[in-house]
Amino acid sequence: MTYLSPGSLRKNEPMSAHVSWRAGGSAQLFYVPLNREDLFGFVREHSQSVFHVMGLGSNLLVRDGGLSETVIQMHGALKEIKIITQLAHELVLEVEAGVPAPKVARTVARLGYQGAEFLAGIPGTMGGALAMNAGCYGHETWDCVQTVVTMDEEGCFHERTAEDYDISYRHVALKNSSESQIPHRLQPTNEWFIASKLRFINDPLRQGQRIIKELLARRVASQPLGQPNAGSVFRNPPEGFAAQLIEQCGLKGLREGSAEVSQKHANFIVNTGNACATDIENLIYRVQQKVWEECGVSLQPEVRIIGNTKG
Ligand SMILES: Cc1cc2nc3c(=O)[nH]c(=O)nc-3n(C[C@H](O)[C@H](O)[C@H](O)COP(=O)(O)OP(=O)(O)OC[C@H]3O[C@@H](n4cnc5c(N)ncnc54)[C@H](O)[C@@H]3O)c2cc1C
Repeated sequence: MTYLSPGSLRKNEPMSAHVSWRAGGSAQLFYVPLNREDLFGFVREHSQSVFHVMGLGSNLLVRDGGLSETVIQMHGALKEIKIITQLAHELVLEVEAGVPAPKVARTVARLGYQGAEFLAGIPGTMGGALAMNAGCYGHETWDCVQTVVTMDEEGCFHERTAEDYDISYRHVALKNSSESQIPHRLQPTNEWFIASKLRFINDPLRQGQRIIKELLARRVASQPLGQPNAGSVFRNPPEGFAAQLIEQCGLKGLREGSAEVSQKHANFIVNTGNACATDIENLIYRVQQKVWEECGVSLQPEVRIIGNTKG
Protein backbone atom coordinates (compact mmCIF):
# COMPACT_ATOMS: atom_id res chain seq x y z
CA MET A 1 0.00 0.00 0.00
CA THR A 2 1.26 3.50 -0.80
CA TYR A 3 2.33 5.50 2.23
CA LEU A 4 0.52 8.84 2.44
CA SER A 5 2.97 11.19 4.11
CA PRO A 6 1.33 13.61 6.52
CA GLY A 7 4.37 15.92 6.38
CA SER A 8 4.77 18.79 3.96
CA LEU A 9 6.11 18.07 0.45
CA ARG A 10 6.84 21.10 -1.76
CA LYS A 11 8.08 21.35 -5.32
CA ASN A 12 10.70 23.86 -6.52
CA GLU A 13 11.23 25.25 -3.06
CA PRO A 14 13.62 28.24 -2.98
CA MET A 15 16.46 27.22 -0.70
CA SER A 16 17.27 30.89 -0.06
CA ALA A 17 14.35 30.78 2.39
CA HIS A 18 15.99 27.95 4.32
CA VAL A 19 19.69 28.82 4.49
CA SER A 20 21.21 31.56 6.62
CA TRP A 21 23.02 33.12 3.64
CA ARG A 22 19.61 33.86 2.09
CA ALA A 23 20.93 32.95 -1.35
CA GLY A 24 20.93 30.01 -3.74
CA GLY A 25 18.76 27.91 -6.04
CA SER A 26 15.68 25.74 -5.49
CA ALA A 27 15.19 22.16 -4.38
CA GLN A 28 13.12 20.12 -6.81
CA LEU A 29 11.48 18.41 -3.84
CA PHE A 30 11.54 19.64 -0.25
CA TYR A 31 10.09 17.55 2.54
CA VAL A 32 9.41 18.46 6.16
CA PRO A 33 8.35 15.30 7.99
CA LEU A 34 5.73 15.48 10.71
CA ASN A 35 7.68 13.30 13.15
CA ARG A 36 10.05 10.34 13.36
CA GLU A 37 7.50 7.77 12.13
CA ASP A 38 6.59 9.95 9.17
CA LEU A 39 10.25 10.41 8.26
CA PHE A 40 10.64 6.64 8.32
CA GLY A 41 7.53 6.16 6.13
CA PHE A 42 8.61 8.81 3.64
CA VAL A 43 12.15 7.43 3.23
CA ARG A 44 10.84 3.87 2.82
CA GLU A 45 8.29 5.03 0.23
CA HIS A 46 10.95 6.97 -1.71
CA SER A 47 13.75 4.44 -1.39
CA GLN A 48 14.90 5.14 -4.97
CA SER A 49 15.44 8.83 -4.25
CA VAL A 50 18.64 10.58 -3.31
CA PHE A 51 18.22 12.69 -0.18
CA HIS A 52 19.96 15.66 1.32
CA VAL A 53 19.16 16.03 5.00
CA MET A 54 19.47 19.52 6.43
CA GLY A 55 18.78 21.37 9.64
CA LEU A 56 18.65 25.15 9.78
CA GLY A 57 20.94 25.72 6.80
CA SER A 58 23.42 27.74 8.84
CA ASN A 59 26.40 26.02 7.26
CA LEU A 60 25.13 25.50 3.72
CA LEU A 61 25.66 27.12 0.34
CA VAL A 62 23.23 25.82 -2.30
CA ARG A 63 24.44 26.69 -5.79
CA ASP A 64 22.15 28.76 -8.01
CA GLY A 65 21.26 25.79 -10.27
CA GLY A 66 19.56 24.20 -7.26
CA LEU A 67 19.25 20.62 -6.11
CA SER A 68 17.82 17.75 -8.11
CA GLU A 69 17.80 15.59 -4.97
CA THR A 70 15.04 15.57 -2.37
CA VAL A 71 15.84 17.80 0.58
CA ILE A 72 14.57 16.64 3.97
CA GLN A 73 14.49 19.36 6.57
CA MET A 74 14.73 18.13 10.15
CA HIS A 75 14.13 21.49 11.75
CA GLY A 76 10.49 21.88 12.63
CA ALA A 77 9.97 18.12 12.66
CA LEU A 78 12.09 16.23 15.14
CA LYS A 79 11.87 18.73 17.97
CA GLU A 80 11.47 16.90 21.29
CA ILE A 81 13.77 17.19 24.30
CA LYS A 82 13.23 14.50 26.97
CA ILE A 83 14.88 14.14 30.36
CA ILE A 84 16.22 10.57 30.58
CA THR A 85 18.13 10.86 33.89
CA GLN A 86 18.25 13.73 36.34
CA LEU A 87 20.52 13.04 39.34
CA ALA A 88 22.41 15.39 41.64
CA HIS A 89 25.62 14.93 39.67
CA GLU A 90 24.40 14.37 36.11
CA LEU A 91 21.69 15.05 33.58
CA VAL A 92 21.03 12.96 30.49
CA LEU A 93 18.75 14.39 27.81
CA GLU A 94 17.41 12.78 24.68
CA VAL A 95 17.38 15.49 22.04
CA GLU A 96 15.85 15.03 18.60
CA ALA A 97 17.83 16.18 15.58
CA GLY A 98 15.61 19.13 14.68
CA VAL A 99 15.99 20.88 18.04
CA PRO A 100 17.94 24.15 17.76
CA ALA A 101 21.31 23.89 19.55
CA PRO A 102 20.70 27.13 21.56
CA LYS A 103 17.57 25.55 23.04
CA VAL A 104 19.69 22.70 24.42
CA ALA A 105 22.07 25.25 25.99
CA ARG A 106 19.19 27.11 27.65
CA THR A 107 17.46 23.91 28.85
CA VAL A 108 20.61 22.51 30.45
CA ALA A 109 21.42 25.81 32.20
CA ARG A 110 17.85 26.20 33.43
CA LEU A 111 17.93 22.71 34.96
CA GLY A 112 21.16 23.59 36.80
CA TYR A 113 23.76 21.58 34.86
CA GLN A 114 26.79 22.61 32.80
CA GLY A 115 28.58 21.74 29.57
CA ALA A 116 26.10 22.96 26.95
CA GLU A 117 26.71 26.72 27.20
CA PHE A 118 28.84 26.81 24.03
CA LEU A 119 25.83 25.64 21.97
CA ALA A 120 23.98 28.88 22.75
CA GLY A 121 25.55 30.80 19.87
CA ILE A 122 25.49 28.05 17.23
CA PRO A 123 22.40 28.82 15.16
CA GLY A 124 21.78 25.32 13.81
CA THR A 125 20.01 22.13 14.85
CA MET A 126 21.46 19.37 17.02
CA GLY A 127 21.50 17.16 13.88
CA GLY A 128 23.68 19.72 12.13
CA ALA A 129 25.87 20.09 15.22
CA LEU A 130 26.40 16.30 15.34
CA ALA A 131 27.15 16.15 11.61
CA MET A 132 29.65 19.02 11.80
CA ASN A 133 30.99 18.33 15.31
CA ALA A 134 30.17 21.99 15.78
CA GLY A 135 32.08 23.76 18.49
CA CYS A 136 33.57 26.92 19.90
CA TYR A 137 35.42 28.31 22.90
CA GLY A 138 37.19 24.99 23.52
CA HIS A 139 34.11 22.74 23.39
CA GLU A 140 32.79 20.41 20.70
CA THR A 141 29.40 18.75 20.27
CA TRP A 142 30.64 15.18 20.57
CA ASP A 143 32.18 15.94 24.01
CA CYS A 144 28.72 15.48 25.52
CA VAL A 145 27.35 12.63 23.36
CA GLN A 146 26.53 9.29 25.01
CA THR A 147 24.72 7.67 22.10
CA VAL A 148 23.03 8.67 18.86
CA VAL A 149 20.14 7.21 16.91
CA THR A 150 20.60 7.28 13.15
CA MET A 151 18.47 6.27 10.19
CA ASP A 152 19.90 4.89 6.97
CA GLU A 153 18.67 5.31 3.40
CA GLU A 154 16.51 2.17 3.68
CA GLY A 155 14.73 3.64 6.69
CA CYS A 156 16.46 1.38 9.26
CA PHE A 157 17.36 2.81 12.67
CA HIS A 158 20.71 2.25 14.41
CA GLU A 159 21.94 3.13 17.88
CA ARG A 160 25.58 4.17 17.87
CA THR A 161 28.24 5.53 20.21
CA ALA A 162 31.14 7.88 19.60
CA GLU A 163 33.40 4.82 19.18
CA ASP A 164 31.60 4.04 15.92
CA TYR A 165 32.83 7.32 14.35
CA ASP A 166 36.02 9.06 13.34
CA ILE A 167 35.58 12.38 15.09
CA SER A 168 37.86 15.38 14.85
CA TYR A 169 37.71 19.13 14.30
CA ARG A 170 34.51 19.76 12.25
CA HIS A 171 34.62 16.20 10.97
CA VAL A 172 32.48 13.16 11.74
CA ALA A 173 32.32 9.94 9.70
CA LEU A 174 31.32 6.37 10.41
CA LYS A 175 34.43 4.23 10.89
CA ASN A 176 35.30 1.99 7.95
CA SER A 177 32.81 3.74 5.67
CA SER A 178 34.09 5.10 2.37
CA GLU A 179 33.03 8.55 3.64
CA SER A 180 35.58 8.40 6.44
CA GLN A 181 38.25 8.77 3.73
CA ILE A 182 36.63 11.95 2.36
CA PRO A 183 36.93 14.65 4.98
CA HIS A 184 34.62 17.31 3.56
CA ARG A 185 31.78 15.30 2.10
CA LEU A 186 28.29 16.80 2.21
CA GLN A 187 27.00 14.32 4.72
CA PRO A 188 29.19 12.52 7.17
CA THR A 189 27.68 9.08 6.53
CA ASN A 190 24.86 7.57 4.55
CA GLU A 191 22.95 7.66 7.83
CA TRP A 192 21.28 10.69 9.33
CA PHE A 193 21.15 11.72 12.92
CA ILE A 194 17.64 11.38 14.33
CA ALA A 195 18.34 11.92 18.03
CA SER A 196 21.13 11.88 20.58
CA LYS A 197 21.55 11.21 24.28
CA LEU A 198 23.62 14.00 25.75
CA ARG A 199 25.21 13.98 29.21
CA PHE A 200 25.90 17.06 31.33
CA ILE A 201 27.28 17.51 34.84
CA ASN A 202 26.06 19.39 37.86
CA ASP A 203 26.57 23.16 37.98
CA PRO A 204 26.59 23.77 41.76
CA LEU A 205 27.17 27.51 41.39
CA ARG A 206 24.44 27.84 38.76
CA GLN A 207 26.67 29.77 36.39
CA GLY A 208 25.13 28.51 33.13
CA GLN A 209 22.87 31.47 32.36
CA ARG A 210 25.66 33.95 33.07
CA ILE A 211 28.16 32.06 30.88
CA ILE A 212 25.63 31.93 28.04
CA LYS A 213 25.09 35.69 28.27
CA GLU A 214 28.83 36.32 28.19
CA LEU A 215 29.43 34.04 25.22
CA LEU A 216 26.58 35.63 23.25
CA ALA A 217 27.93 39.12 24.04
CA ARG A 218 31.34 38.05 22.69
CA ARG A 219 29.66 37.00 19.45
CA VAL A 220 27.71 40.23 19.09
CA ALA A 221 30.97 42.15 19.54
CA SER A 222 32.99 40.13 17.02
CA GLN A 223 30.59 38.71 14.39
CA PRO A 224 28.43 40.42 11.73
CA LEU A 225 25.20 38.95 13.08
CA GLY A 226 23.00 41.60 11.47
CA GLN A 227 23.82 40.43 7.94
CA PRO A 228 23.06 37.02 6.37
CA ASN A 229 26.11 34.75 6.77
CA ALA A 230 27.04 31.14 7.46
CA GLY A 231 29.49 31.56 10.31
CA SER A 232 33.13 30.77 9.68
CA VAL A 233 33.61 30.05 5.99
CA PHE A 234 37.00 28.31 6.32
CA ARG A 235 38.30 25.75 8.77
CA ASN A 236 41.20 26.97 10.86
CA PRO A 237 44.38 25.50 9.35
CA PRO A 238 46.89 23.72 11.63
CA GLU A 239 49.16 26.77 11.17
CA GLY A 240 46.79 29.24 12.86
CA PHE A 241 43.54 31.09 12.33
CA ALA A 242 41.82 31.51 8.97
CA ALA A 243 40.51 34.97 9.95
CA GLN A 244 44.01 36.19 10.81
CA LEU A 245 45.44 35.02 7.47
CA ILE A 246 42.57 36.59 5.50
CA GLU A 247 42.94 39.89 7.35
CA GLN A 248 46.72 39.81 6.93
CA CYS A 249 46.18 39.60 3.15
CA GLY A 250 44.05 42.75 3.29
CA LEU A 251 40.90 40.96 2.13
CA LYS A 252 38.34 42.47 4.51
CA GLY A 253 35.75 44.25 2.37
CA LEU A 254 36.65 42.26 -0.80
CA ARG A 255 33.48 41.87 -2.90
CA GLU A 256 31.88 39.75 -5.61
CA GLY A 257 28.51 41.23 -6.50
CA SER A 258 26.73 41.72 -3.18
CA ALA A 259 28.86 39.16 -1.31
CA GLU A 260 31.52 40.71 0.90
CA VAL A 261 34.30 39.54 3.18
CA SER A 262 33.00 40.95 6.44
CA GLN A 263 34.69 44.07 7.80
CA LYS A 264 33.91 42.83 11.31
CA HIS A 265 35.22 39.23 11.06
CA ALA A 266 37.47 38.26 8.15
CA ASN A 267 36.39 34.58 8.18
CA PHE A 268 32.76 35.55 7.56
CA ILE A 269 31.27 36.32 4.13
CA VAL A 270 28.11 38.39 4.34
CA ASN A 271 25.28 38.86 1.88
CA THR A 272 24.95 42.64 1.76
CA GLY A 273 21.79 42.57 -0.35
CA ASN A 274 21.07 40.38 -3.33
CA ALA A 275 24.11 38.16 -3.48
CA CYS A 276 23.60 34.93 -5.40
CA ALA A 277 25.33 31.70 -4.48
CA THR A 278 27.76 32.17 -7.39
CA ASP A 279 28.91 35.50 -5.92
CA ILE A 280 29.55 33.83 -2.58
CA GLU A 281 31.31 30.81 -4.07
CA ASN A 282 33.49 32.98 -6.33
CA LEU A 283 34.45 35.09 -3.34
CA ILE A 284 35.36 31.92 -1.42
CA TYR A 285 37.71 30.88 -4.25
CA ARG A 286 39.25 34.36 -4.53
CA VAL A 287 40.02 34.40 -0.81
CA GLN A 288 41.44 30.88 -1.01
CA GLN A 289 43.66 31.82 -3.94
CA LYS A 290 44.94 35.04 -2.40
CA VAL A 291 45.80 33.39 0.94
CA TRP A 292 47.56 30.59 -0.93
CA GLU A 293 49.59 33.05 -3.03
CA GLU A 294 50.54 35.34 -0.14
CA CYS A 295 50.83 32.96 2.82
CA GLY A 296 51.28 29.52 1.21
CA VAL A 297 48.34 28.19 3.23
CA SER A 298 45.56 26.24 1.55
CA LEU A 299 42.32 27.23 3.32
CA GLN A 300 39.59 24.59 3.24
CA PRO A 301 35.92 25.57 3.39
CA GLU A 302 34.07 24.64 6.57
CA VAL A 303 30.74 25.48 4.90
CA ARG A 304 29.16 22.71 2.84
CA ILE A 305 28.70 23.68 -0.83
CA ILE A 306 26.05 21.65 -2.64
CA GLY A 307 23.88 21.69 -5.75
CA ASN A 308 24.30 22.48 -9.43
CA THR A 309 25.83 25.52 -11.04
CA LYS A 310 23.37 27.56 -13.09
CA GLY A 311 23.47 26.42 -16.71
C1 LIG B 1 26.28 33.38 12.90
C2 LIG B 1 26.80 31.97 12.85
C3 LIG B 1 27.68 31.53 13.81
C4 LIG B 1 28.17 30.23 13.78
N1 LIG B 1 29.04 29.82 14.75
C5 LIG B 1 29.51 28.55 14.75
C6 LIG B 1 30.41 28.10 15.76
O1 LIG B 1 30.76 28.82 16.69
N2 LIG B 1 30.86 26.84 15.69
C7 LIG B 1 30.50 25.98 14.69
O2 LIG B 1 30.94 24.82 14.68
N3 LIG B 1 29.64 26.39 13.71
C8 LIG B 1 29.15 27.64 13.71
N4 LIG B 1 28.28 28.04 12.73
C9 LIG B 1 27.95 27.12 11.63
C10 LIG B 1 26.67 26.28 11.85
O3 LIG B 1 25.75 26.96 12.70
C11 LIG B 1 26.98 24.90 12.43
O4 LIG B 1 27.79 24.16 11.56
C12 LIG B 1 25.69 24.11 12.71
O5 LIG B 1 26.01 22.98 13.49
C13 LIG B 1 24.97 23.67 11.44
O6 LIG B 1 23.68 23.18 11.82
P1 LIG B 1 22.45 23.26 10.79
O7 LIG B 1 21.31 22.60 11.42
O8 LIG B 1 22.25 24.66 10.37
O9 LIG B 1 23.03 22.38 9.61
P2 LIG B 1 22.85 22.63 8.04
O10 LIG B 1 23.58 23.88 7.65
O11 LIG B 1 21.44 22.52 7.66
O12 LIG B 1 23.68 21.39 7.47
C14 LIG B 1 25.08 21.34 7.65
C15 LIG B 1 25.57 19.92 7.32
O13 LIG B 1 25.05 19.02 8.28
C16 LIG B 1 24.31 17.98 7.63
N5 LIG B 1 23.18 17.65 8.49
C17 LIG B 1 22.27 18.49 9.02
N6 LIG B 1 21.39 17.82 9.78
C18 LIG B 1 21.76 16.51 9.73
C19 LIG B 1 21.25 15.31 10.32
N7 LIG B 1 20.18 15.30 11.10
N8 LIG B 1 21.89 14.15 10.04
C20 LIG B 1 22.98 14.12 9.24
N9 LIG B 1 23.50 15.22 8.65
C21 LIG B 1 22.91 16.40 8.90
C22 LIG B 1 23.87 18.56 6.30
O14 LIG B 1 23.66 17.55 5.35
C23 LIG B 1 25.07 19.43 5.96
O15 LIG B 1 26.09 18.67 5.40
C24 LIG B 1 27.78 29.34 12.74
C25 LIG B 1 26.87 29.80 11.77
C26 LIG B 1 26.38 31.08 11.82
C27 LIG B 1 25.39 31.54 10.78
